[in-house]
Amino acid sequence: MARPIRADIRLSAFVHNYAAAKRAAPRSRALAVVKANGYGHGIERVARALPHADGFATLELDGAVRLRDAGFAGEILLLEGFFEAAELAEIAGRALATVVSGEDQLRQLEACKPTAAIDCYLKINTGMNRLGLAPSAVRPALERLEAAGSARSVTLMTHFATADGPEGIGEAMRRFEDATRGLALPRSLANSAALFAHPQAHADTVREGIALYGATPFADRSAGSLGLLPAMTLRSRLIAIQDLAAGETVGYGATYRAAGPMRLGIVACGYADGYPRHAPSGTPVLVDGVRVPTAGRVSMDMITVDLSAVPGARVGSEVVLWGEGLPVDDVAASAGTVGYELLCALAPRVPVREVP
Ligand SMILES: *Cc1c(COP(=O)(O)O)cnc(C)c1O
Repeated sequence: MARPIRADIRLSAFVHNYAAAKRAAPRSRALAVVKANGYGHGIERVARALPHADGFATLELDGAVRLRDAGFAGEILLLEGFFEAAELAEIAGRALATVVSGEDQLRQLEACKPTAAIDCYLKINTGMNRLGLAPSAVRPALERLEAAGSARSVTLMTHFATADGPEGIGEAMRRFEDATRGLALPRSLANSAALFAHPQAHADTVREGIALYGATPFADRSAGSLGLLPAMTLRSRLIAIQDLAAGETVGYGATYRAAGPMRLGIVACGYADGYPRHAPSGTPVLVDGVRVPTAGRVSMDMITVDLSAVPGARVGSEVVLWGEGLPVDDVAASAGTVGYELLCALAPRVPVREVP
């Protein structure tokens, strides 16, 4: 038998979660965000599942090119734009849309005459303070793009720092509106969190990332409560059972000590598969459909679980690390991180199986 770990990717979940976004923002276009290889799900797989998406947004030029070459004719947006002028020929040639977020990119657009005009998303910094033009730089940038003749269209864009939290987006919206007042151009503001929490930010085009994969952008609202379905289920099996006596320890560093006699299950999944090494004892795992806690350190190829709650478990019992029956967000919360990180970190050695 092959090593039993695999990731099941449910294609219908992408369709369901994309439809949930369209229902939440019925008057907006929705770009499916597929950066980082579709948050670990496979960029081409996501695109194949969503042939009628309004568009896709990604970060890596090679992925954008592959989507175009695979036959997707709609909008493909590069979320960080280009990193050197040499990329502009490819962007123009493949009719990709690009974010323009700073002086360097503006200058390169002015200096190089691309073979065709490019759809530009002018990114405005409204408080995230990573990328984006200062609000006062927006009108001069528009004039320069106009003068250069390199923009086929311009969409005004921002990205929120706190759409998922109690701070909300009030201040960012005020800055965006001040910077763009009176400009008759389309707008794109919302990520998944704003899509579900801030309808006033839906505007013309939303950018749905994490929700497309069936995980939540919020610390306090589950994916299920948003009507989302998990797209990735990471599955494995028990490959051994250990019966421990009271006082015996488990795993590297002997960080877990059995309080009394206990049955321990050894799961074929470790940090080299993408399971977070920092997940502490007590992180939830499903064994034969029953939620049990991990016990001891995550190692490279194995984790260990307390089988007290599943007396019938045996070698070969089915394990779900996250996905259907166990939200990735619950595992992430236990490990002190977010579902995004776990999904993106799925390791190349894990075989993927597509399920309808
Ligand atoms: C990644 C990204 C998104 C998607 O964010 P989610 O929280 O995953 O929905 C939207 N916009 C930009 C600019 C991004 O980089």
